[in-house]
Amino acid sequence: MATGWLCHELYMWHNTGNWAQVFPPGLTVQPGTHAENPETKRRFRNLVEVSGLLNHLVQISPRPATPDEIARVHTREHIAHIKALSDAGGGDASWLTPLGAGSYEIALLAAGGAIAAGEGVVSGEVTNAYALIRPPGHHAQPNLAMGFCLFSNAAVAIRHLQARLGVGRVATVDWDVHHGNGTQAIFYEDPTVLTISLHQENLYPPNSGSISENGTGRGLGFNLNIPLPPGSGAAAYRAAFERVVIPALHRFKPELIVVPSGFDASGVDPLGRMMLSSGAYRELTHLLLSAARELCGGRILMTHEGGYSEMYVPYCGVAVLEELSGVKTHVDDPWQPLMMAWGGQDLQPHQSLVIDKVAALVARIS
Ligand SMILES: [Zn+2]
Repeated sequence: MATGWLCHELYMWHNTGNWAQVFPPGLTVQPGTHAENPETKRRFRNLVEVSGLLNHLVQISPRPATPDEIARVHTREHIAHIKALSDAGGGDASWLTPLGAGSYEIALLAAGGAIAAGEGVVSGEVTNAYALIRPPGHHAQPNLAMGFCLFSNAAVAIRHLQARLGVGRVATVDWDVHHGNGTQAIFYEDPTVLTISLHQENLYPPNSGSISENGTGRGLGFNLNIPLPPGSGAAAYRAAFERVVIPALHRFKPELIVVPSGFDASGVDPLGRMMLSSGAYRELTHLLLSAARELCGGRILMTHEGGYSEMYVPYCGVAVLEELSGVKTHVDDPWQPLMMAWGGQDLQPHQSLVIDKVAALVARIS
């Protein structure tokens, strides 16, 4: 069993400017640092090295995706819009999505990184892989950048693997705290891709990610949203996996599981109000691995999405990588015992109700 690892310094050079958290500066908003900045990713990469884990992972190099590969899931107009803005030195691609000079090429390298890591998994070079790529992708719509996302990295990779490597059914399990609305939109009518998103109820985008969004046409039943109440912790996510995610995967029988992986469901994330610790992310990874081994030879591709706590993202990332690779390092997450002792980490009745409502939809998957 080998675990692939993909990252590139150029990902850190995507410039989101001097926005204040998620808003453009102005006369009443002091310029600051954009929430989606390189630091969380750099520190994740650094801890992978400092932990010694890097020596146990198979390095996979990214290549730029071609515009034709991007066009499998995005409109030519959208691609041209991002290129023009990037060539002109940058700006806001659309609502809440600033970019800088060269961001177009970096976004191609991010989508191409997802492709390369996916090829590593599907070809059998590695059993599973983590692509630490940037800018993120899961909010990007076919014709629209949004939520810091320019191109839908995971979707571009899935379409490429289906078109060129003969992959059939793919399941996505998106544990970013925000709704994976872009991935959902791209595959909404497609029964070959089961899209599952666990997210904080009605966080971002607004009015998106409800249980009733269950797919349409031939894709009816093949999109599952689990909109968990704010304050959900380890046990709520475990219950969502045990009652919805894992049974859905067993019904669907994917050939590959793709995880748009955001660590903004952590207990100290500035943009989310959930309570996952690194240990909780580790447990979710363990549950996915067990299902993947039974269903698809252990094949899992993770593509990096959100996560905005500079201090904490690296611990969540290393925990997931330890689980994927089977290598335990000497790294101890200093938050783990404190966070797991917080009130509300056990399953609450109102959380259980939501999970059971989604569980009732699993039978529609065939
Ligand atoms: Zn997010």
